[in-house]
Amino acid sequence: MSSLRFTAVEEAFKKKALCVSAPSKFTTDYYGKYVFTKSIMAKYLSKDIMKALNNAIEKGVTLDRSVADDVATGMKMWAMELGATHYTHWFQPLTDGTAEKHDSFIDYAAGPGEAIIEDFSGKLLAQQEPDASSFPSGGIRSTFEARGYTAWDPSSPAFVVDDTLCIPTIFISYTGESLDLKAPLLKSLSVVNKAATAVCRMFDPNVKKVVAYLGWEQEYFLIDEGLYATRPDLMLTGRTLIGHESAKNQQMEDHYFGAVPTRVAAYMKDLEFEAYKFGIPLKTRHNEVAPNQFELAPIFGECNLAVDQNLLVMSIMKKVARRHGFRLLLHEKPFAGINGSGKHNNWSLGTDTGVGLLTPGKTPEENLQFITFLVNILMAVYKNNALLKASIMTAQNAHRLGANEAPPAIVSAFLGSQISSVLDKLENSTSDEAIVMGEKKGLSLGIAHIPEVLLDNTDRNRTSPFAFTGNRFEFRAVGSSANCSSAMATLNAAVAAQLIEFKATVDEKIASGATVQSAIFEVIKEYIKISKPIRFDGNGYSDEWKEEAAKRGLDCETSVPEIYKAFTSEQSVKMFTSTGVLTEKELHARNEVKWETYTKWIQIEARVLGDITMNHIIPLATRYQSFLLDNVSKIKAVFSGEKAEKLSKMDSDLIVEIGERIATIKNAVDDMVDIRRSVNKIEDEYEKAVAYHDKVLPYFDIIRYNTDKLELIVDDEMWTLPKYREMLFIR
Ligand code: ADP
Ligand code: MG
Repeated sequence: MSSLRFTAVEEAFKKKALCVSAPSKFTTDYYGKYVFTKSIMAKYLSKDIMKALNNAIEKGVTLDRSVADDVATGMKMWAMELGATHYTHWFQPLTDGTAEKHDSFIDYAAGPGEAIIEDFSGKLLAQQEPDASSFPSGGIRSTFEARGYTAWDPSSPAFVVDDTLCIPTIFISYTGESLDLKAPLLKSLSVVNKAATAVCRMFDPNVKKVVAYLGWEQEYFLIDEGLYATRPDLMLTGRTLIGHESAKNQQMEDHYFGAVPTRVAAYMKDLEFEAYKFGIPLKTRHNEVAPNQFELAPIFGECNLAVDQNLLVMSIMKKVARRHGFRLLLHEKPFAGINGSGKHNNWSLGTDTGVGLLTPGKTPEENLQFITFLVNILMAVYKNNALLKASIMTAQNAHRLGANEAPPAIVSAFLGSQISSVLDKLENSTSDEAIVMGEKKGLSLGIAHIPEVLLDNTDRNRTSPFAFTGNRFEFRAVGSSANCSSAMATLNAAVAAQLIEFKATVDEKIASGATVQSAIFEVIKEYIKISKPIRFDGNGYSDEWKEEAAKRGLDCETSVPEIYKAFTSEQSVKMFTSTGVLTEKELHARNEVKWETYTKWIQIEARVLGDITMNHIIPLATRYQSFLLDNVSKIKAVFSGEKAEKLSKMDSDLIVEIGERIATIKNAVDDMVDIRRSVNKIEDEYEKAVAYHDKVLPYFDIIRYNTDKLELIVDDEMWTLPKYREMLFIR
């Protein structure tokens, strides 16, 4: 009866690891082969053009049209040599993921009917006008002016995928508003560069530039393709909406860092070879905590490029998975009861003089600079804790943060005991002497001593959403399927705004007679006090923390539609507009899109859940129930009286339980459909999203609970959907 499930299980068991071999013995032979990197460019572009392009990249100077033409010609040559016949502006709409529309290089040389040539001009490289009316804009583009255009981002190199030259671009409306995730990110990088450089120059006047770095750790699940295909919920929503926990899941923690299963090991190798061709420096790979969950991470890089590489790697991961008979699950919580997937964003700032601003220094001066940045970041996170949470929140990520089995959705910062004690000492010290003192004396305060202490700093807190890990902060709340831009643009902007304020306050103090050192010291002391509520080194998953965080005034909201409101709070609007990262209009528009997206996901999940229960669960449970009924009547035909009662008792109990559960499920599905009909009439996107959260979502739990109970009692042979143990342990 449930042959599809068993066929899938059988096929999955038979699959063997693919044999993959490296394109060449040395990775460096083919690394970055498909990317128009500076060293490749040098072969296709003249020195002058290279210089002009470099200027545009480094200083943000607008490219001259004739330069763009030359770059386009060189780029086309290079791409065609790799087999490209098409080009596309590769952009990042508000829906997450990437969008592309491919155009061929061909054109008529002179006019219709004339000879065909391969053409790619500076104009085509620099700007395009995709038919963008179907991308969400949150009302920025009214229907009569649905135009938007994509504009080349020369700071992220073009690359060739299959037969197509991909040009990273921003996506903006005709009136100049950002319609994507890249444009605000670029603006945030520029403003954090300016603000941080100004602060650095108080310590070292040689600093000309500060770069934000990102190293993402990508978690994911792999599931056999056949099993995936027999689960409508996985296929359509990316997660299992029903399914009882497997008796064994991650209790033994035997999967974490264990030997990688052979089929998966082949996948990982293949994936790395592919990623290297695109210049993505994958460095680590390992099993994660949950069964069939894995992780990969590259060497960190400049934030904008790292974001693009992450988007590219996610699409490569999907493709390569197909080759190995797997499906890739990037959903934040594909399976209940076991760990979900995140994408830790390791973030730091560094100067063009080679100093990591979050790396404790060797001299007291360097350490004052380190502490200055650390404390300003804490201030930024403190002031914007609700906003940072909003920047990572989606219907999917809510299952990792804030939903019923997830840890609370509260942003706090973990520093570890050493750094915490340094801040505590600083806060209570009465003079700035300690910092300006020589190395030896400085020891009494611990400041000069930080580098040594940190070397063996092992206290790591896995429960903190924003943790200091020695030379960087790790923003761990970011979801596995997310475009990192949203989180990174918000963090950069918040830190930039904070650094600007810091510099202004310090300057004021200096103007009224304070020395630079003591002015900085005074402000830092003040900041340490103010930002204290954001510091939390305890267990972020505990219930006590929820209470404590509320007392501290941190944002504890768990409803996703409500969380988005943080984007348009007075504080956020001020922060984003003062830094020029997003306008108030853009913030409101983005929220419209977020609410709409949220509603759509819950809507889709509700429909799929309704379908699965009506088309799979209720029919199969009824079939089993009728089998039991049959058995009861047969027992009663053979036996009578007390004996018959006794022998048929178990069947009768099961029949009743099945009947009750089916009725509960059916009623819940009916009610859910009714409620959906009524809330669908709500026009306002915010109110509709709230209604979906408050009124529709609660039915999911009732339906799932009863369905999962049925899974425990119905004959396994009759169960049509692959079970957790099959999806999680066959590899
Ligand atoms: P872990 O699992 O211990 O956190 P991983 O090696 O999996 O560490 O990932 C750490 C990520 O952080 C890598 O991408 C690494 O390159 C990156 N990283 C290391 N130092 C910095 C830094 N200073 N700034 C930004 N990212 C960094
Ligand atoms: Mg990490």
